[in-house]
Amino acid sequence: GGIVIAIDGPSGSGKSSTAKGVARARELRYLDTGAMYRAMTWWMLHHQVDVNDAAAVAEAASRPVITLGTDPDAPTVQVDGVDAAQAIRTQEVTTNVSAVSAVPAVRELLVTRQRQIIDEARDEAAGIVVEGRDITTVVAPDAPVKIFLTASAEMRAQRRSREVRSSDVAATQADLARRDQLDSSRAASPLTQTADATELDTTGLSLDEVIALVVKLADE
Ligand code: C5P
Repeated sequence: GGIVIAIDGPSGSGKSSTAKGVARARELRYLDTGAMYRAMTWWMLHHQVDVNDAAAVAEAASRPVITLGTDPDAPTVQVDGVDAAQAIRTQEVTTNVSAVSAVPAVRELLVTRQRQIIDEARDEAAGIVVEGRDITTVVAPDAPVKIFLTASAEMRAQRRSREVRSSDVAATQADLARRDQLDSSRAASPLTQTADATELDTTGLSLDEVIALVVKLADE
């Protein structure tokens, strides 16, 4: 089968741009697992499920049909057959996604789906680059290439501010810190850096330099 490149790291570490760039460079597929947690969260908010009620979230988790396209040039997200690419990037979703992704039933469902997408890509393509918080630890711990991306808090806030077109870098930094804290301290699959993943600090590196470093690791 094809290769699996697993990339984890906190928000704003450059995971998405790096993962897409590597997938393009190596003609691999691309999976943004954060988009799946965001899609689940959007559906819950849209259907008036109280996202802070873990039992209600767990009960509803199997209802949305979440479909991701894995072309790195046009990654698509559909919920119940409707394009949700914009809807999952709103501040409301960003604020609530950590609560939804902390629910074990949500993680079980999405991890199962993620492994199916990985298996398909390994069968039908040269492989896949998968990015998230628990890819190197839970989703694909046997991946031959495992990377943990980091960057300084300032760098991450600057990047994320540019992405969401906000001029308030301090507010973005506070928001990232809050989300990192929630994602790292939850009981179910917290964001953790394991010894067998290669740490790559992207502070001060250009995107092209980071992509080249990951491609080099994949070639070794
Ligand atoms: O990567 P992104 O910032 O879009 O992820 C949104 C949220 O989804 C994260 O803050 C985290 O709560 C959750 N997530 C997760 N596990 C993953 C990917 C994302 O819990 N593998």
